[in-house]
Order: sequence, then C-alpha cells, then structure tokens
Amino acid sequence: SEVKMIRIEDAAEYVGRVVKIGVWLRQKRGGGKIAFLQLRDGTGFMQGVVSATDVDEATFKLAEHLKQETSLYVTGTIHADSRSEFGYEMAVSEIEIVGESENYPISPKEHGTDFLFDERHLYLRHQKPYATLKIRDELIRAIYDFFHEDGFLKLDAPIITDSAPEGTTELFPVDYFGKEAYLSQTGQLYAEAGAMAFGKVYDFGPTFRAEKSSTRRHLTEFWMIDAEMAWMHQEQSLEVQERFIAYLIQRVIDNCRVELKMLGRDIEKLASYTKLPYPRVSYDDAVKLLQDNGFKIDWGVDFGSPEETFLANHFTSPFFVVNFPKAVKAFYMKRHPTRDDVVISADLMAPEGYGEIIGGSERDTDYDYLKQRLIDQHLDLNEYSWYLDLRKYGTVPHSGFGLGLERLIRFVAGEDHIRETIPFPRTLNRLHP
Ligand code: ATP
Ligand code: MG
Ligand code: MG
Ligand code: MG
Repeated sequence: SEVKMIRIEDAAEYVGRVVKIGVWLRQKRGGGKIAFLQLRDGTGFMQGVVSATDVDEATFKLAEHLKQETSLYVTGTIHADSRSEFGYEMAVSEIEIVGESENYPISPKEHGTDFLFDERHLYLRHQKPYATLKIRDELIRAIYDFFHEDGFLKLDAPIITDSAPEGTTELFPVDYFGKEAYLSQTGQLYAEAGAMAFGKVYDFGPTFRAEKSSTRRHLTEFWMIDAEMAWMHQEQSLEVQERFIAYLIQRVIDNCRVELKMLGRDIEKLASYTKLPYPRVSYDDAVKLLQDNGFKIDWGVDFGSPEETFLANHFTSPFFVVNFPKAVKAFYMKRHPTRDDVVISADLMAPEGYGEIIGGSERDTDYDYLKQRLIDQHLDLNEYSWYLDLRKYGTVPHSGFGLGLERLIRFVAGEDHIRETIPFPRTLNRLHP
C-alpha cells in the first residue's frame, strides 16, 4: 500500500511508523557506513539517518553525493530522539530526488549581512529567518484574534492617498493621473472616520516612509496596526494598548516556544512583560532622567535613538512616556486641559533598549482648533476637509494608537536589526530582491 505523506511538524504522531516526507537537504555529515542528512520541509527540521547496512548500495551512494538544497522525498521510520533539538529523526529507507541543486551560495556562518540580504530569497530557508518569520505569522494571527474578540471592526484604509499627516519630509510620491499623491504613512485619519461609523476599528496594512537615514529601527515599508476607539479617553486607550501587547506576547510564548529557543530569546523575561499595568512616565520626567544621566537634551525636542535606547534600558518592562510636547507631535493630538505646551499622547517603549513600538494619543475634537493646527503646519485645508467634517457631525471623545508590526517582532523575537523581521526588507539602501 501507499506510504503516507506527512509533514515534519506532525512527526510526533507517527513514531514507529514508515512515512514519506518532501524535504530539502540543509546539510550532510557522516562518513563510512552512515550519513546524517539535516532536513527541512518548511514546517520544521529533522535529521535523516541513512545506514549502509539498512539500504541498498545505490541509495547509500546517492545519499553520500547529495548536494545542499536538493529537494527529495525521503521514506523511512520515525523515531523519537531526545538528543536532537527537534525531538525526532527518520531512519531513511528510500530517497527520491525531486530537484537537483547547483552549488548553493549561502553559508550564514561565513557570510556577512549584506550578502545574506542580497540572497534573501534563499536566505529565507535558514533557521534564523524561519524562526523570526514564524513568530511574525503568529503575531499577525494574534492581532486579528485580539481585535475580533474585543469587538473591533477591520477597516482597510487606502494605500494611495493625498494626505500626509505625519510630516511631509518622509513621503513617497506617486503620480496619480497627473495629480500628486503619496503612499500612505499611516491609516490613522481614515480609522478616525471608521470609529465614528463603527465605534471601534483597526486598520492593518503596509505603510511607507522615506526614512533617509539607516537605523536598526526603521524600514521604508512596514506594516502598521492603527486602532481607533470612539468614546474612549486616553487612559482607556492605554489600558487597551497594554492588554493588547501582553496578549500578543503570551500568544508567542504559548505557540512559538521552539522558535524563541532557536533565537535564544529569554522566555522568562518575555513572560514578565505580560504583567500589567505598564508604568507611565511623563515626558517631563523622562527628560529630567536623561539630563541627570549626562544627556544634553532640552525640554521640547523628540527623543533620538540614543535617548530612547537609554530610557529603554533604564526600565525593566514596557512603559509609556506620556504627554509629549505639542511641537513634536501630529496636528490631530488633543490639547492638554491645563498646559498649552503638551498634548495627550503616549509612546509605548519596549525595554532592553528596543524603544518605541507604539505611538498614540487622544484626538482633539474641536473643529476650529484643528483647522488652525492644519494652517500652522502648512497642510492643505482642501485635502483635510473630509477629516474636519468628523468634528462637524456629532464629534465624540476618541483615542487611538499605531503599532509597528516589525518593531513588535524585533522586540518579541529579540532581533538586533529590524530588517530580520520582514520577508523582503525595504530600507534606504535596499530595494532588491
Ligand atoms: P520613530 O520615532 O521611531 O521614527 P515615529 O514616532 O515616527 O517612530 P509614529 O508616527 O508614531 O512613528 O508611528 C507609529 C508606529 O509605527 C511607531 O511607534 C513604530 O512602531 C512604527 N514605525 C514608525 N516608523 C517606522 C519605520 N520607519 N519602520 C518601522 N516601523 C515604524
Ligand atoms: Mg519617525
Ligand atoms: Mg517617535
Ligand atoms: Mg511615534
């Protein structure tokens, strides 16, 4: 009878049985009478053991001469193997080549990052990208689950737009039938319209910013989650944010233990970040803390990388920096009731030096004030008239936040550089492959 085809992730259910798996060869070692094949099939990793005493001579020769990345069907008996980091191995009885491989160009131990990312289409096959992108996948599903269970509607904001709410210096222009348009920097303004129609909404899609310097935290194309909630003031929004982040971290701990271990992420430390509430620190106090530690920063400027890194190493859990100076934040953020120089805003910072992962605020609800803010920031009133309409027809208190997916992955997976967290990163110097 036909041998059953399985996937490596299901190996536990087939211990002691003969099965067939479609795999690629990662590595090969051994000699003499035994060959060890390191195999992967996209769902996991496994060792195949080919013994000269158990297979015919042709099969053994074939195993000895296989080149890295050849695709194969292997047939054999699954054994539990406590010594292997993946738990199971196969005693191989048959090998069938599906696709030959040329001399494979990548060796992660030898090659530098630039080369690995030039070959990203192949580098995806290796263990580190595998683990990181599995965590990405889990987080994406967890994001949908959280919002669905919490009563949010998914409202898709457009990608091509004529608005530039986050500043005009980081825009990618698009020629839209002769009219100037841009790739979206955020779905935020559209989410506000959605909140007035559906109460609680989120947008989750690609966003674009022409970041002109290369850092470990910025991509030019990244995925943003924008949530917007009618009838909620800032404190309630912060509660949603911390509950959201704790939920996402817990999902990864529950479902990506193997991947976290592959990346060497400290799971206990990660688990400690599910404890709520997260501390709230005012921007004023954060500036004082920085000044007391030798930073030459004046009140009123946004934090740069060194400041964020310091703060993010000072705290031992995620924390909110609240009430930033009005001058460094977007026009729509709500005025503070007693101070004219700050807005009701918060950045959620991740510890261990990671820094900002969320930016959010309560939104101002006053038509005249927002109109003046647009004028002050030299934004075109015609392009924002629809947005101002939201304040003309039954305005209500509302708050929202934007989470960068790749920033979140970088923190949860413990990656040094954000380029590791997206399949094909786009940065100042990279558009290929
Ligand atoms: P930063 O200060 O790090 O430049 P920002 O304050 O400009 O970020 P926001 O406008 O607050 O970013 O956007 C919301 C979220 O989107 C950020 O908290 C971050 O998680 C993410 N984000 C912003 N810019 C980028 C980028 N270039 N690459 C990846 N994620 C980004
Ligand atoms: Mg920025
Ligand atoms: Mg910022
Ligand atoms: Mg921000």
